[in-house]
Amino acid sequence: MPTIVNCPTCKNQVEWKTENQFRPFCSKRCQLIDLGEWAEENHKISQPMQSNEPLNEEMLDALEDEFLQHNKFFVEPE
Ligand SMILES: [Zn+2]
Repeated sequence: MPTIVNCPTCKNQVEWKTENQFRPFCSKRCQLIDLGEWAEENHKISQPMQSNEPLNEEMLDALEDEFLQHNKFFVEPE
């Protein structure tokens, strides 16, 4: 029986398996959206007048880099 979790971003069911590097998210997109919301919270504290522009590709790339740097625990040892 596979372990099924709900994607925190879109609530889709996600199979929890080693091949899914974005778990518990269903996709890279959902993972980055979740991180983006987290980063946005920080922005509200330090820079209250930030614009409300949606995430663009450049921002997603930057967030991905930051995420990977700070979340090495996401990589499970084989
Ligand atoms: Zn999702």
